[in-house]
Amino acid sequence: MNWDEFARWGRHVSDWAAQYHRTIRDRPVRARTRPGEIAGKLPVAPPERGEAMDAIMADFERIVMPGITHWQHPRFFAYFSSNAAPPSMLAEMLVSTIAAQCMLWQTSPAATELEGVMIDWLLQAMSLPEGYTGVIQDSASSATLSAVLTMREKATAYTGNRDGLGGKGNLRIYCSEQVHSSIDRAAWVAGIGQRNLVKLPTKGPRYGIDIDALQAAITRDRASGHIPAGIIAITGGTGIGASDDLGAVLQVARAEGLYTHLDAAWAGAAMICPEFRADFWSGVEGFDSIVFNPHKWLGAQFDCSVQFLRDPRPQLNTLKIEPEYLKTTGEAVTNYSEWTIPLGRRFRALKLWFLIRSYGLEGLRARLRNHVSWAGEICEEIRGLDGFEIVTEPILSLFTFRCPGDDTAQQALVDALNDDGRIYLTQGSFGGRKVIRFQVGQFDATRDDVMMAATVIADVYERLVHSLEQ
Ligand SMILES: *Cc1c(COP(=O)(O)O)cnc(C)c1O
Repeated sequence: MNWDEFARWGRHVSDWAAQYHRTIRDRPVRARTRPGEIAGKLPVAPPERGEAMDAIMADFERIVMPGITHWQHPRFFAYFSSNAAPPSMLAEMLVSTIAAQCMLWQTSPAATELEGVMIDWLLQAMSLPEGYTGVIQDSASSATLSAVLTMREKATAYTGNRDGLGGKGNLRIYCSEQVHSSIDRAAWVAGIGQRNLVKLPTKGPRYGIDIDALQAAITRDRASGHIPAGIIAITGGTGIGASDDLGAVLQVARAEGLYTHLDAAWAGAAMICPEFRADFWSGVEGFDSIVFNPHKWLGAQFDCSVQFLRDPRPQLNTLKIEPEYLKTTGEAVTNYSEWTIPLGRRFRALKLWFLIRSYGLEGLRARLRNHVSWAGEICEEIRGLDGFEIVTEPILSLFTFRCPGDDTAQQALVDALNDDGRIYLTQGSFGGRKVIRFQVGQFDATRDDVMMAATVIADVYERLVHSLEQ
């Protein structure tokens, strides 16, 4: 492809993107695809000769698009939203044009320096104290793994990487039973083991970790000769939005000398709004590591996960490796690949810069505030439906509910709703029962999009009951 053709197709793709977004409400949110259907339409072998771009684009529309679930659909209420606000898309187009590999300062000084400034902007926006620094990673899973490896190394006086873990005893990490599966996987991969990830019960209106149980578990473990290594707290857990009392967790960690990591992958974005900090952020200052995903609620095109660090040295002592070919001149510069597990790094700071400048913090806050308030309104609508029950009350913009009937009925309703296509929801579990999750967070959602869900739920439920009666 020559650059003239590229320019022509580039314009075509931009037009296509704008039109996609203008008409997205007319599409079913979740793909209506049977397993194997898309693969069956693709040639089994690669072409020997190059094909024309028109043919490739036509097949993209014909084969790929029908198999897409529309994450940017304003009536996407499943999982958590993965937003791609338009300025962040433009930044990504530039990034893929330059295609810089940003592993070291010298491999693109602007990428490293912009990343440092974006971390500073976000620290201010989220009211974290001076002295923190951070790094942009691909995902919260990677940031959490980095933190868990750091816990391991710190608890073994930085000998795990060198000697392996044989004979080091059982390293223990503590968290609530509401943590995301990425915490389990970090414990597996770091050689800590599932059995040594101690999951504690929760209590209170925001389902925070039971602090007495946390303290007791650590004391018991020390008495049995185990080695406590760290505590992982959550602000806004995936299932129901569970949020720990951060100050209380930190107090235990300090008394026990434990490294702390906070998973705020989803809810962290809302901390740019001062009014949410009293309930969800107080006590955060002092956490050793904090992760939040601007690629979820904030609007930065996937992927973009920010890890804040109170002091980067423990993580650098854990992950930094400097073979001869990566050595650069001795000047004091930041080489972010030393902070993370992958060496190669995309230029992720640019989309944050475009996003934050384009909307300003006020523009971003306004969206988050709307989402939280509409989640409250739609929750009341669903509570009012005959026989429906709210299982967990809204935490920020997430709540769970049940329709009348057993667990099978809940799944039947979720499936029927998603087949209907006007909205998209997913199931979860709470207290041993199946629940239906509802979260509001799509960047372009309007109040009408959100409130319409109550009509759709009532309508689809009625149809379902009817079909069962026949
Ligand atoms: C989404 C989510 C994660 C995982 O995020 P990735 O960036 O996909 O790894 C972890 N924790 C919580 C609370 C989440 O909501």
